[in-house]
Amino acid sequence: MKKYDYLIVGAGLFGATFAYEMNKIGKKCLVIDKKSHIGGNVYCENIEGINVHKYGAHIFHTSNKEIWDYVNSFVEFNRYTNSPVANYKGELYNLPFNMNTFYQLWKVKTPEEAKNKIEEQKKEARVENPKNLEEQAISLVGKDIYEKLIKGYTEKQWGQKATELPAFIIKRLPVRFTFDNNYFNDKYQGIPIGGYNKIVEKMLDGVEVKLNTDFFKERNELENIAEKIVFTGMIDEYYDYKFGTLEYRSLRFEDELLDEENHQGNAVINYTEYEIPYTRIIEHKHFEDCNSSKTVITKEYPATWKKGDEPYYPINNNKNNDLYAKYKELADKENKVIFGGRLGQYKYFDMHNVIESALNCVKEELK
Ligand code: FAD
Ligand code: UDP
Repeated sequence: MKKYDYLIVGAGLFGATFAYEMNKIGKKCLVIDKKSHIGGNVYCENIEGINVHKYGAHIFHTSNKEIWDYVNSFVEFNRYTNSPVANYKGELYNLPFNMNTFYQLWKVKTPEEAKNKIEEQKKEARVENPKNLEEQAISLVGKDIYEKLIKGYTEKQWGQKATELPAFIIKRLPVRFTFDNNYFNDKYQGIPIGGYNKIVEKMLDGVEVKLNTDFFKERNELENIAEKIVFTGMIDEYYDYKFGTLEYRSLRFEDELLDEENHQGNAVINYTEYEIPYTRIIEHKHFEDCNSSKTVITKEYPATWKKGDEPYYPINNNKNNDLYAKYKELADKENKVIFGGRLGQYKYFDMHNVIESALNCVKEELK
């Protein structure tokens, strides 16, 4: 008999959801995290009464009612709607790409005029079957928008040419022929009132958690402590990079506390030209009702990832997906280790995907 049923590596949303569900039915879980706090990417720090999203802006959105009800069972959500604004060389444009953007760019006033303009630019660029992000973007919104609002942002965000990136990345963004600046098409959207920590704290209530504990530093002991391991770190690191290293993109966050009430008038402003080194400035107080006389802003700088850095984004191009498939083959043969989450499954998952995946994983375990 081992001391625990499950050792869960990572106190992010995947690990916390799995631990909550298993703890609820009496399984004994130990959650470890190498960070000094729980929550992983969704961790918030309260500064001057403002919930600062320490690892980038997090807006919860889903069309899955079950997942929406699930997160709302831990905390109440507000009705925040994400409507980022893009700044290109000092000019402001609404996002995602919609009638407001088309009007600002071309002065077109009807959906038909906007569609004609895009069609014209698409024809000129001769894109038929988009094979990469550049071709996909031009075929969705035309060359002008691609050049002003997509190319520079994308190339600094990913550190690669848009012609080398997979098309699916740009399909995350809606294109709409209505005057609607909602960044997401999902049915449900919001920010947990009081911040994301509330959800994760509730999920881990009553579960044993050990912080500042890196699985790889105590691997020998930890591997024998539980009947099964749920691993939400990097899958290639778990296998000691034996087939090669998967690529990730990292970020650097620069927070500033400002002695002013309202710095930029919106939670998210994207800087879409390549020459500005950050991709966006987040002003956290706009995510929630907040009457602080100060404000906190964060500049988000994309960064090259190397071993030891925070792997914020998997880079799901063909080369990496093929390499991941080799690791996945090994993972599928394990009967005592489950890989989950953005890093364990090497997928550009949003929060709702991660929670859904963890819940499915629990169902699978309990079959
Ligand atoms: P993580 O949150 O990364 O948790 C994994 C945990 O494992 C970490 O705490 C890590 O410290 C720990 N760990 C790793 N290796 C080890 C080890 N060896 N030993 C011990 N512990 C280890 N999603 C949305 O839905 N909406 C958004 O607006 C949104 N914005 C985002 C913005 C940014 C900048 C980023 C990077 C992501 C964003 N996401 C967003 C995605 C969201 O953050 C993820 O889908 C989700 O948080 C991933 O949860 P996870 O548990 O898989 O991973
Ligand atoms: N994107 C862009 N311009 C923008 C915003 C996004 O070109 O102003 C592209 C970019 O390639 C980015 C992708 O769309 O990586 C997905 O954007 P999203 O906001 O979903 O990225 P995330 O919040 O996950 O970083």
